[in-house]
Amino acid sequence: MSLRQELLARPGRKVRLAEHDPGNTLGFTDKLAAREELEANVRRLAALQYRLFAEGRRAVLVVFQAMDAGGKDGAIRRVMSGLNPQSCRVTSFKKPSEAELAHDFLWRIHKAVPARGEIGIFNRSHYEDVLVVRVHNLVPKAVWSERYEDINRFEKLLARNDVVLLKFFLHISRKEQRERLLARVEDPERNWKITPEDLEERKYWGDYVRAYEEAIERCSTGHAPWYIIPANHKWFRDLAVSQILVETLEGLKPKFPAPKFDLSKVRVV
Ligand code: ATP
Ligand code: MG
Repeated sequence: MSLRQELLARPGRKVRLAEHDPGNTLGFTDKLAAREELEANVRRLAALQYRLFAEGRRAVLVVFQAMDAGGKDGAIRRVMSGLNPQSCRVTSFKKPSEAELAHDFLWRIHKAVPARGEIGIFNRSHYEDVLVVRVHNLVPKAVWSERYEDINRFEKLLARNDVVLLKFFLHISRKEQRERLLARVEDPERNWKITPEDLEERKYWGDYVRAYEEAIERCSTGHAPWYIIPANHKWFRDLAVSQILVETLEGLKPKFPAPKFDLSKVRVV
């Protein structure tokens, strides 16, 4: 089975994060070899991005979600490092502004969806509206519980409009999170990354697990699959994400468009 098949959250299946080992490396043991494979994938991604842009028919949207310190920033930096910034954009979704809150929860999301030919990366996403919002009761249950359906329909709309969507949940253990938060406290170059909320949110670990389980379970679909990425080992996380991206983009077989006029008659003077 390919890595992509193995890490896919199968549509309609129950999700129990406890059954997914965050330290898993699926038989890969050689970190250096994994780093080399990552580099090869990064080069393949760049070539695929070029074709996707030239073709100009389809967009790719990659969603990253994780617990605090789960490695979204690191994965985006490593895996996307070879992409041409001209047709690639990262959008980070923070606490909604007043203007954003005055609209429906998908308003700010829809505006950031990539155009045909582009690759869009979401650092956090519309899923926050069934994660942090649910865990902290930021809206009543009657409101957030309807959002799974809204999300599925929204993602279907995107798929029907040639947006290829894939979603990564970077899965770390509670112990690994503790170590990463401690490192942020101890390392002066990482102090800026830690907020009192990160420490506060840790108390809600179990609630977040349940919220993630339900989101993945209800919103992993054929047209917008979730992948559960074991993310305790950064090298494996990056390899897995890059491999799934390459496989997905290769599956699209982006083609260079035919020349718009008869090149045999062209004279460049
Ligand atoms: P990250 O932690 O993702 O690396 P960051 O540290 O740069 O990002 P933070 O301000 O810590 O920035 O993270 C963004 C915060 O915004 C998170 O606590 C997240 O839960 C919150 N957030 C995102 N979307 C929403 C939403 N729709 N409703 C409420 N809070 C949200
Ligand atoms: Mg943060």
